[in-house]
Amino acid sequence: MKEKYFDNDYVDIYEHNTKTNQITLLKSRVSIKEGNINLSVYDKNKNDEENKRNYIIVYVPLVNIELSKDYIELKNSCIDKISVKYIPENATNKVLKYTIQEDSVEVTEDFNIIAKKVGEYLLRVGIENENVEKEIKVKILEIANSIETNVDSVTLKVGNETTINAKILPETAVNNQLEWKSSNEKVAKVDQNGKVKGIAYGNCEIEIKTKEEPIISKKISVKVELKQNTSVVNNTYSNELPSQPTYIQGILIVNKKYGLPSNYNPGVNATALSAFNTMQAAAKNEGISLFIVSGFRSYSTQLGLYNRYVRQYGQAATDTFSAKAGHSEHQTGLAFDVNSVLDSFAQTKEGKWLAGNCYKYGFIIRYPENKQAITGYKYEPWHIRYLGVDIATKVYQSGLCLEEYLEI
Ligand SMILES: [Zn+2]
Repeated sequence: MKEKYFDNDYVDIYEHNTKTNQITLLKSRVSIKEGNINLSVYDKNKNDEENKRNYIIVYVPLVNIELSKDYIELKNSCIDKISVKYIPENATNKVLKYTIQEDSVEVTEDFNIIAKKVGEYLLRVGIENENVEKEIKVKILEIANSIETNVDSVTLKVGNETTINAKILPETAVNNQLEWKSSNEKVAKVDQNGKVKGIAYGNCEIEIKTKEEPIISKKISVKVELKQNTSVVNNTYSNELPSQPTYIQGILIVNKKYGLPSNYNPGVNATALSAFNTMQAAAKNEGISLFIVSGFRSYSTQLGLYNRYVRQYGQAATDTFSAKAGHSEHQTGLAFDVNSVLDSFAQTKEGKWLAGNCYKYGFIIRYPENKQAITGYKYEPWHIRYLGVDIATKVYQSGLCLEEYLEI
């Protein structure tokens, strides 16, 4: 034990009960600075000799330390931790001093090392008033602070590709690997070299970020436009009907561009009808009444219907709401008109339920709002088309109409 306490040393204070001869720790690591220990021993005025207490001040000096590392390498602005073993372990004065080049690192009380500046340094850790000094080599590595790209936004057409060039600055940064990700792969995909491919009409973002910490990132907005003439083609009738129905990605497609043979006469599709019946029952449970007002229509039925509309409204108007024979989806047996063919159906609770739920049963609203230029038909909230639950869900979630989804 030392004979003299140094200013700013630390001590443990024990209470010694002279009556019971018990010694209890009152407070550990009390800094011995003049005036900051106030020991009230007993109350003289009350002559309270009974409760007289002795206090023992114990000072165990720190004589050495062991550090868990003598070399640390870390990225700038990152943190590493050094653990310190104090010798003896019960030293009351566990205060260390350290020196290192100014602004290079920050050393916290519990010995976290926070990198501040790129370079190589020597951290010296010592004990006050003891001839002990340990050294730790600290190497701080350069990190990325920005991602530079040749463009900030990209516009491309469905099916086309373009490459975004990106580099990390400064070039000496150690976290120099990039990761590329699209916010919506249904709109545009990107590979790990920055090659972007337009998948479907819409907008999304490409995020470029560093693979390793610390993460920095940059976003590039992507706009995917329809292929040239898509809308015009789908809005114009093909000249003659094909000899076979057209399947695209396994889906029977009928619109103004793709017709059906006049002898294609399958009747109502049993799977689609059964799906409708399931949906009808589910809707009924929620107090929604759905029923089919028009299902399968043969070539000749459509021919009569179309010609009657043309006489009544003229061909231009008729073409926005009724199909020419061979171009009606009703001829597939997979389409149904539900409840009402009035525009106001969209605002009814049945219309809203159908729009929000029909995909769960394998149907889509085939002619959505704001897609007339692509489908060739104005909004028909009542006309549903059976695709099966899987594809209907994908089309619904994409927000695209069927032509856009299939890129036709
Ligand atoms: Zn219809």
